Parts: sequence; C-alpha cells; structure tokens
Amino acid sequence: MYRRRRPTSGRGTSRGARERAIEEPVASRAKLTFQDMEGAVPIFTGNDDYPVDKWVAQIEEVAHSAGWGSMEKLLFGKRLVKGVAERFLRIQVGVYSWEKLKSTLLEEFARKVSGASVHRRLSKSQKTSEESVNEYFYRMREIASVGSIEDRDLMEYVIDGIPGRSSMKGMLYGARNLKEFRDKLSAFDGLVEKVKAEEAAATVATAKAVPAPSTGGGWRPKARTPALIDTGSEDNLADESSPTHWTYDDQSRWVSAIFPMCGGTRQSPIDIPADVTPVIRAPCLFWSNYHSAQRYLTLENNGHSIYASSTWAQGGIPILSGGILTGNYIFAALHWHWGRDNSDGSEHSFQSHKYPLEMHLVHYNSQYPSLSAALASNDPQALAVVGVMFKASIFSNPGMTVLTQAMRRATSTGVQNSVLPLGHLGLNFKDGYYTYLGSLTSPPCNQVVRWIILKKPLHIKSIQLNIFRSILVNGRPLTFNYRNIQPLNGRQVQYYDQCL
Ligand SMILES: [Zn+2]
Repeated sequence: MYRRRRPTSGRGTSRGARERAIEEPVASRAKLTFQDMEGAVPIFTGNDDYPVDKWVAQIEEVAHSAGWGSMEKLLFGKRLVKGVAERFLRIQVGVYSWEKLKSTLLEEFARKVSGASVHRRLSKSQKTSEESVNEYFYRMREIASVGSIEDRDLMEYVIDGIPGRSSMKGMLYGARNLKEFRDKLSAFDGLVEKVKAEEAAATVATAKAVPAPSTGGGWRPKARTPALIDTGSEDNLADESSPTHWTYDDQSRWVSAIFPMCGGTRQSPIDIPADVTPVIRAPCLFWSNYHSAQRYLTLENNGHSIYASSTWAQGGIPILSGGILTGNYIFAALHWHWGRDNSDGSEHSFQSHKYPLEMHLVHYNSQYPSLSAALASNDPQALAVVGVMFKASIFSNPGMTVLTQAMRRATSTGVQNSVLPLGHLGLNFKDGYYTYLGSLTSPPCNQVVRWIILKKPLHIKSIQLNIFRSILVNGRPLTFNYRNIQPLNGRQVQYYDQCL
C-alpha cells in the first residue's frame, strides 16, 4: 500500500521541501542508486489498469527513502515510462523537472483510470490456487482502493472470483460489512478444505467415475460470467485457447464439461409458436423508474456484445413487477443481439420470423442480494429478462441514436455515455408480451430466466443496424451474435394481452 503525499508542486516550495528533507535522518544515509531501487516501482505504460497517481506516489516514496532530489526523481521516473506513455512524453516539450513530468503524466493519464476500469480489474481477478482466501481478499481490497468501490460490490467481486460450486458459495452472501465478510470467508475456507478432503477420499473409492456436472460436484474453476449479464469481465478475448473461450460460430461445442447447462431442457431462445396460451385481463406489468436517468451509463464491448451498465442515484434504479412476475425485479444491464443482415439477428423468432436486432433488459429478483447471487441460484425465475425486437425502418429511434453514436468507441474497459432513461428507447410499457421459462442465451446457459418478450417491435434505422455489425472483436467485425433456436421441450408459452 502507498501513502498519498502532499504534492510539492511549484518552484517556490522546492527549496523549503529540500531543507525539510535535510533535517530528516534518511537524508544522511548514503544515496541509493537507480539500480538499487530497480523493481521497487513498476513500469508505467499508460495502461489504465495501473493508476498513474499510484505510480507517482510510489516513486516519491522510493525517492524519499533513497534520499533523492527532484533531478533523480525525474531521471528515475523517465526510465520507468514505457509504451504509450513513453510515446506521449516524446511529443511533450519542457519536461525537465520531476514536478513537470508528474503533472504532465497526471494530466494525461489520471482521468483514464475510470471507475469502469477498476470494476473490470475486480471482475477479472480470480483467486489463484496458490493464495489463501484471505490473501485473495486483501489483494482485491488493494485493487478496490484505487477507485471508489462500495463494500457491497467488492464483496460480490470477491465471491465471483472464488472458484467452486455455487451452492457452497451461498454462505458468503449477506455480510453487512467487510469484517463480517472476512469471518464468512474464514468459515468458507474451512468448509472447502473439509469437502476437498472428503472428495479426494471419494475419488479414490470410485477411480473411474464419470465427470460430475458442474452443479453436482467437483472443485472446478469458475465458469465465466455469462455474456448475457456480463458487465465487462471477459478476460478470454485474447486467450482463444482458454477452455472457457466460446464464440457464436462454435455453438455446438457449448455443451461440454465446462457449460453442461447449455444442454439442458429449458434453454433459450425459442421460436414463439402460433398456439400460445392467451391470458386476458391479466394484471399489468409495472415498470417503475424507467424514466429516471442514470448517474452514469457505460457502454462496453466484451467480445460477445455491447453492454450498457449504469449507476443510479439511491431509489432511482428501474424495477419491474406485476404481470406474470411475483416480486420485484431490479434492472441490472442491457445488451443487444444482431445478425448479418436485416432478415436475421434476433434470438427469439415468431413462427420462424426473425428481426434484425433484439435488446435484452436483464433484471434479477430483489430477494437476491445481487445479480451473481440470483444466477447462482437454481431458481427458474431468479432473473426476468425483457426481450425487445427492433425492425429496420426509415424512422429513427432517438434513444438508440444516442447509444449507437458511442458504440463504435466502446472498448473492453467501457466508454462513458451520456445518460439516457431506459424509457427513451421507445419502450411501450403497455405492450402485450409472450412469456416462458428459459435460460441465459450464452454460456453457461443457467436455466434461471423468466422471459418477457414484447410483441411489438421498435424502430431502428438501417444505418444504425450497420453500426452493430461493424463492432470489432479481436480486429474482426462481430457480424452476428445470436444463439440458434432451442427446442421447446413441452414448455408452455403464454401471451399476456396488452394492458389497459
Ligand atoms: Zn442476451
């Protein structure tokens, strides 16, 4: 950890600072060389995973213990600047003092350490087999200390990053503060050790047993957070050899030891058949806060879709209830599925008719503390996902225009977008909808979704559809990202009529 020092900026303070430094005992030591301190501070590349203010503070700390002055700090700092940051420095003029180097780098790179990138780092970090649960917890706390991450979110990231079966991890939820959480982690660690020992004994007994499904046993690495609800945790984009790497070209291989649920009997999407069961005079779906604007809206390209995630002011988060739903469902994120041309793209189809774009508004039941907890449950209605179709039109959709303009810039770390109440996407809250029980439409395909498919499509201009098709993943356009239609397997599809 580092301590933030008061900056000694401006020419006027440097002499005073030096005089004070002379009084400090450390200055009387023999000066240490750069080689002595090599490795004490990491290279700074301008990569936003490593915050520039932390790097600056580390250099000042090292300089303090080594008894260096401004010139040594400048030279030492410059040695450690590489990559993008080095290229950036080359085009700067007048960087002849540490103060100038520091302010130049801070000005250029500080704003890039967004909350989104800290969230991304947290969601990417998993407990390794070499570290204890406690060590992992403190590593995550250190990452979180760079941004303003709420304790609740931190706890969730920690739970997500611990490999293992969801039923055991259930005991980690519900802590009211970090101290309680640490106690839960200790108890969990003890239990894991015990189960591992028991399983090791059982494995010896049944040496040739078939691999157990991931829900039923085995201490296996955590399957990736599904793209459907992912808020940017895709860490396998570059690593195509990763066992959890998947693509839409490769759907037949999703059903594997890693994503066994993709072969379940309640999978999505489906073709909405002609013979649906109508429910007339049903209670209305209640869309609350859909006209409230977020505090922040971030668009991310996670390699499988474009995701919009948001932060709302207290009490402002959209909640869906009523209609077919029992309980309140909290909005989590939205994303889109599209196809190569206007004849294809939506995941759901209507008697085989497909639309060029389908938007998914993901909600989770408020009885769960978080989206991850809802996903980890085996509750068939833990999530409510609203599917909204778009049809190509000459009419533009003002809400979508706002989003598509920013989409091209969306990277895996996300771009901040101007805020946009979800209602402005043109949702008609009185529309009739089809509903059935299904799954996430991407690995690991958890069967935990109450689907609500709005009957009436919204409009979108063809030119905006092309923006989706030009989204790049590993340098290639992601031309389609829909899953193939899954068998209904006798499931009932209901139609809730337009609500008055
Ligand atoms: Zn989806």
